[in-house]
Amino acid sequence: MDNINKLYQQTIMDYAKRNDVKGEIENPNYALRGHNPSCGDDITLLIKLENDKIVDMKYIGSSCAISSASTSMLIENVIGKNKDEVQNILNSFFSMMRSEEYDETILNDASVLEFVKDMPARIKCATLSWHSLKSIIGEGNDGIREIKGNN
Ligand code: ZN
Repeated sequence: MDNINKLYQQTIMDYAKRNDVKGEIENPNYALRGHNPSCGDDITLLIKLENDKIVDMKYIGSSCAISSASTSMLIENVIGKNKDEVQNILNSFFSMMRSEEYDETILNDASVLEFVKDMPARIKCATLSWHSLKSIIGEGNDGIREIKGNN
């Protein structure tokens, strides 16, 4: 994290330390573990979906500051959103990471992570949980895919 502007660094540390998005939730209907071997990030998303809407979401696991912050930002952005809105947020984030045009307004503080796109070794840290959620929400119109986890 050498080249990061101080403000960004502080924002990332604040999000990485947030406890309100970490831990178990009651009756999650989706759980998906994502692992990034190059850094050691191991994040399980716990999601409660009701009527196509994310009503609760937290994460458990261990991860570096960028990965933890990114997951906190993701969760903050998608709680209360329906599947289409979540899809837009995810696509915007991936566009940002590919240096394409994206909608900064729907990413909120997650746009702070834009600098990571120039750090190839860390991109997986920043996108890990976003990819996990994308695979839960799925592409196309055929609804939400069920993820089999270990209970
Ligand atoms: Zn990492």
